[in-house]
Amino acid sequence: LFIALEGGEGAGKSTQARLLGDAFRQKGREVVLTREPGGTSGAEAIRSLLLSTEGDGWGPRAEALLFAAARADHVDKLIRPALARGGVVICDRYLDSSRAYQGGGGGLSDADLLDLHRIGSEGLLPDVTLLLTLSPGEAAARLALRDRGNTDRIGGRAADYHARVAAAFDRLAQAEPARFATVEAAGSPEDVHARIIAALGSRL
Ligand code: C5P
Repeated sequence: LFIALEGGEGAGKSTQARLLGDAFRQKGREVVLTREPGGTSGAEAIRSLLLSTEGDGWGPRAEALLFAAARADHVDKLIRPALARGGVVICDRYLDSSRAYQGGGGGLSDADLLDLHRIGSEGLLPDVTLLLTLSPGEAAARLALRDRGNTDRIGGRAADYHARVAAAFDRLAQAEPARFATVEAAGSPEDVHARIIAALGSRL
């Protein structure tokens, strides 16, 4: 079972990934918790590259290629082997982040991003993509608390960029209702976890 968590910054994806991993482990399942960009040594090296630019940063096309290369390594070396063993893979961000950030935010076409994904990762899609949604005001308040002194961010982008990213995530979820479950991310971690468990239904 392959589950991806998606959404803007501050939505609580990594906390929810951890709680969800615990829930599957309690059912006796092997759980692989991982994140993008990263998850393998090659992909973590690309993550460092993505984070390394000063000033202008990467352009959206170079960024999309780096994310696709990192994902290819991650899929080949970690995700597919874990799925082949019958494990549950819970991934903090996946393809739909590229479609929302480099597509919705950066202006690349969705068809091109899907082509890169087909070439890089044989088009592997999650069984379930959980989209955590939070109002821009609440996301900003959470980030202000979390990011004191934390500079591990790619970009440093303006509010309108994040609005385009959020709109793109919503469009993707509406276009593929069988794969996506949209979960309201306001409230306590326990509240959000309960919504996720409800959304997964018999898959847990
Ligand atoms: O929320 P998280 O820590 O996973 O975000 C890492 C950073 O990577 C965020 O700043 C997000 O804007 C950026 N990102 C991106 N394109 C992706 C995935 C993440 O710009 N495909």
